[in-house]
Amino acid sequence: ASPTAETELLTIMGGGLVGSLLALYLAQHGHAVEMFERRPDIRKAGPVEARSINLALSDRGWRALEGVGIADSVRDVAIAMHGRMMHDPHGQLTYQPYGQEGQAIYSVSRAGLNRRMLDLVEQNPRIRVAFNQQCQRVDLRQQIVEMLDTERGESRTVPFRRLFGVDGAYSAVRGAMQRTERFNYSQHYLDYGYKELTIAAASGGEWALEKHALHIWPRGQYMMIALPNLDGSFNCTLFFPFEGPVSFEALQTPAHVRAFFEDVFPDAVPLMPELETEFFENPTSSLVTVRCYPWTYHDAVLLLGDAAHAIVPFYGQGMNAGFEDCTALHELLTRHGRDWNVIFREFQQQRKPNADAMADLAVYNFEEMRDRVADPRFLLQKKIESKISTQYPDKWLPLYSQVTFSHLPYAEALANGQAQEQIMQCLMPHIQTEEDYQRPEVQQLVAAEMAARA
Ligand code: FAD
Repeated sequence: ASPTAETELLTIMGGGLVGSLLALYLAQHGHAVEMFERRPDIRKAGPVEARSINLALSDRGWRALEGVGIADSVRDVAIAMHGRMMHDPHGQLTYQPYGQEGQAIYSVSRAGLNRRMLDLVEQNPRIRVAFNQQCQRVDLRQQIVEMLDTERGESRTVPFRRLFGVDGAYSAVRGAMQRTERFNYSQHYLDYGYKELTIAAASGGEWALEKHALHIWPRGQYMMIALPNLDGSFNCTLFFPFEGPVSFEALQTPAHVRAFFEDVFPDAVPLMPELETEFFENPTSSLVTVRCYPWTYHDAVLLLGDAAHAIVPFYGQGMNAGFEDCTALHELLTRHGRDWNVIFREFQQQRKPNADAMADLAVYNFEEMRDRVADPRFLLQKKIESKISTQYPDKWLPLYSQVTFSHLPYAEALANGQAQEQIMQCLMPHIQTEEDYQRPEVQQLVAAEMAARA
């Protein structure tokens, strides 16, 4: 990875999902790239470290993967989820498609995706990757990073001309920027944590639940979700209060855990043979939203991905948003060549409002998934929205579809969603059943609203 007269050596801190994709894009633009990653090479990890945790990949993510030609190979190991399958406390199922016929979000293994991208990164002659390299300090003025080799226990300083901070929600690069003048920063934790659990494969490696759905057990103040894996198992995530009468704190013994799960997730428990072991061995992790600005330090440093905008996971958009950062940067590199000043400035101006909107949407969707999807009035509202969308397809794209199945800027999706919600607030008092949608006064109201949106 040696720079030439036209290119320069670019430094990427963090070889996670967004860092690896970013390296591929920067190399595609002819740059030499060096990428530092704190962890060991995930491709050499044992089965425990490489435990499959999956993510929902949707249109924004796919487009970014297509831009470096790896979408097809990821598609081969992705499982389409066409809708939500809700499990009520008696094990009754309700299914809600996510979008139109043929639309889906995709369950992909985080480790598998990261491995696939690292293979491509390493095959690229313009990119050099170093594992077990932890950034300990960034000197923004001197433009040097202090790196600890975690295997050898040795530190060294590395100069940089341009540094891309993609080192996640607890970014060391951002940490240095936080100590500069007029840098805005906030972090907000939910009172909820999460824990990964497993639904085992049925005999013969079959899926014990519907394979092509994202499963949700909404329970008002908490919920569990499950996404399918290729081996027939499902990764479950329990989102649960840290403290209180029903909380992680309150579940102290294996017997207590089992009794609680049997009570509230009765159809899932028989499929979770490792429940008690996993519950006490797997970590309880926190859920944070990070907002900051600027994302640049002159034309020397740029933050992307979770380092710039960590969000809670309830819209399945954190990685997708980080991947979309790469698409946005790619477009700016195409337009502005080597004019980094302009590229960095336009990047943050364009992406910041969208990242903020996505952060709000993610918290909103938490309330919806946890609580409202079990409310009959809310489900009726969703059905009516779907009827409006069918009747006025050019004027009403459901908010979920705008976020998940379109490339509309997140900020526009949020604004449209708020406008739609206002219309529904006017409409719903006139509606008690699905059939009421055909009532003349309802049709007139809808027609008037749609005419106003011409
Ligand atoms: P990370 O994935 O955090 O990668 C950062 C990398 O930097 C890591 O490899 C880390 O080892 C390295 N690093 C950190 N510090 C240093 C340092 N000091 N020096 C060197 N290297 C360092 N998103 C979706 O789109 N869909 C989903 O379904 C989804 N589900 C989620 C479920 C949960 C429970 C959570 C917590 C998140 C979920 N997300 C989802 C969000 C997604 O995981 C993140 O948005 C995504 O991983 C961000 O990628 P990143 O590369 O910016 O950061």
